[in-house]
Amino acid sequence: MSRLNPRQQEAVNYISGPLLVLAGAGSGKTSVITRKIAYLIQQCGIAARHIVAVTFTNKAAREMKERVGSLLRGKEGAGLTVSTFHNLGLNIIRKEHAHLGYKSGFSIFDEQDVKALLADIMQKEYQGDDGVDEVKNLIGAWKNDLILPEQALEKARNPREQTAAIVYLHYQRTLKAYNAVDFDDLILQPVKLFQDHPEVLQKWRNRVRYMLVDEYQDTNASQYLLVKLLVAERAQFTVVGDDDQSIYAWRGARPENLMQLKEDFPSLKVVMLEQNYRSTSRILKCANVLIANNPHVFEKQLWSEMGHGDEIRVIRCKNEEAECERIAMEILTEHLRSGRPYSDFAILYRGNYQAKLMELKLQHHQVPYRLSGGTSFFARQEVKDLMSYFRLLVNPDDDNAFLRVINVPRREIGSATLEKLGNYAGARQLSMFAACDELGLAEHLDARFVERLARFKHFIDRVRRACSEEEPIAALRQMIVDIDYENWLKQNSSTDKAAEYRMSNVWFLLDALKNTLERDEDGDMTIEQAIAKLVLRDMLERQQEEEDGAEGVQMMTLHASKGLEFPSVFIMGMEEEILPHRSSIEADTVEEERRLAYVGITRAKRNLAITFAARRKQYGEVIDCAPSRFLDELPAEDLQWEGLDDTPVEVKAVRGNSALADIRALLKR
Ligand code: ATP
Ligand code: MG
Repeated sequence: MSRLNPRQQEAVNYISGPLLVLAGAGSGKTSVITRKIAYLIQQCGIAARHIVAVTFTNKAAREMKERVGSLLRGKEGAGLTVSTFHNLGLNIIRKEHAHLGYKSGFSIFDEQDVKALLADIMQKEYQGDDGVDEVKNLIGAWKNDLILPEQALEKARNPREQTAAIVYLHYQRTLKAYNAVDFDDLILQPVKLFQDHPEVLQKWRNRVRYMLVDEYQDTNASQYLLVKLLVAERAQFTVVGDDDQSIYAWRGARPENLMQLKEDFPSLKVVMLEQNYRSTSRILKCANVLIANNPHVFEKQLWSEMGHGDEIRVIRCKNEEAECERIAMEILTEHLRSGRPYSDFAILYRGNYQAKLMELKLQHHQVPYRLSGGTSFFARQEVKDLMSYFRLLVNPDDDNAFLRVINVPRREIGSATLEKLGNYAGARQLSMFAACDELGLAEHLDARFVERLARFKHFIDRVRRACSEEEPIAALRQMIVDIDYENWLKQNSSTDKAAEYRMSNVWFLLDALKNTLERDEDGDMTIEQAIAKLVLRDMLERQQEEEDGAEGVQMMTLHASKGLEFPSVFIMGMEEEILPHRSSIEADTVEEERRLAYVGITRAKRNLAITFAARRKQYGEVIDCAPSRFLDELPAEDLQWEGLDDTPVEVKAVRGNSALADIRALLKR
């Protein structure tokens, strides 16, 4: 266990008021949080269940839990909360749903669910669902700023915003009718709850005695308010952050949030950390020089004793294919030559679309890799569909599963019908599924819709009976045939081959269920238990998939790399319009892109290579690419340019940033 430096120690030991640790990348901010949790429990006698630590991603939360776990003994950690903001919100809603007017077993809508619902509403209200994404973003932004539909209507300044505000109003009502919340509600609803019910807030304040927040620079208005409400005047909290790593402005986060803290808590103590324990001096210098181009609220110094280190390699590649090939070969060669494990290497990129070709190249060279944020088996559409059928069979109260399958395949049951069904079910405390064949429904709905709903319910009931009375796997297989899922896939896949592949996933899932049943030792497992187990395995496997990354090269977006570190890092696609992203250039928000590049660079411990392509295919056309302006901003003396071989000799001789101008000139020819 490394020893803390005096500043870090000070941050860990300070508990007499609110504390902000403001420091650059790799200076041990997250380490301070984990150590402090142990300190609070072991030295200050605060029971673990009174401590809440919040981080940004599930992965980070799991890692933090592990790190804290290794510092604690026995049952010391029982009841400790280490979670994301959204998980914390979810727990609060789960316990207090009644105050918010939700039934237990409420559903959480994922992005697909949300989009589908918005499209439905827009179709109904405006006879068209153009611009669903824009409306979704606006609603998201309002929610992040704690603006409710009524206020959004008042605030709307142009027809575009007015439309979105009206859709927002309908959307929120419909969600409620579905007994569902969306992702942003996981923060918004608890905040509303605490504002409207002081007695509930008091209960939670008694529970949360000390709060710690990592990556504080990326909290948005509603998340900040949640923290503020929970910590109250007692203000027993530690937040750590780095304004230079604020990369979620598009989700409402602002570096200025750090300033706000000082205003809201005048007694705030600020500790700055300046020693970086992660990277070589060269890597750190590159990061510092780059970020110096942004205006700064806080001036920070960052130095390292990790040695000077190798030069930063900037590799120009002929095209995107050569770029991916180069990276794959570099990793393979280094692995074979020095025996370094593949997990030492990370490939970072601006957008997920850049990963596809990279994956193919790694596969071609048989280099194992781990893709974070990619589509895992259980996240596939067809697997989610079938799992939802299974879930509904086991738990008829699962409204989310009901909504997911009711029109898959299409049963001509529109959102108006579902909204009425939801209202009807809500008023009678029934699940939507249970309400489907209620006689009273006829008063609210057209006969043909009543008939369609009842037919669906009886079908599912029949399958459930068949599962318990006959051979369950056969019954489920028959169900898949009966709903003609194969045909549905054909209609909804780009090619027949894709549909075929997706159908094979469906059979694979059924096989997995069969194996679960057969592998049961007592031999008395019911299909319900087996499905429940599979649902659970779904969660376990997804978790594991993220965790057992030991074997492969790590591939992820720059956003997802926040807080992590790797011995060797490749940042690909360092080009104008990719990084900085085209939309940021247009919107004049290049500073955020620079912070993103800063995050990427500071992930590297020993080696850093930056690649870019001279040409790449875009929308079927080959275009010339300009190297990113960020390359101009890096310190020339620390860079080593490569891949200029197909350029004239005089350019090749040049090292340093002036090479850029020559490359640019060359590309123009
Ligand atoms: P980021 O801004 O990227 O989130 P951070 O400030 O949270 O970085 P940590 O991840 O906590 O930094 O620490 C960076 C690395 O430095 C880790 O490998 C950690 O173990 C190590 N480290 C932190 N403090 C010390 C110390 N006092 N002595 C030795 N190593 C340390
Ligand atoms: Mg950190």
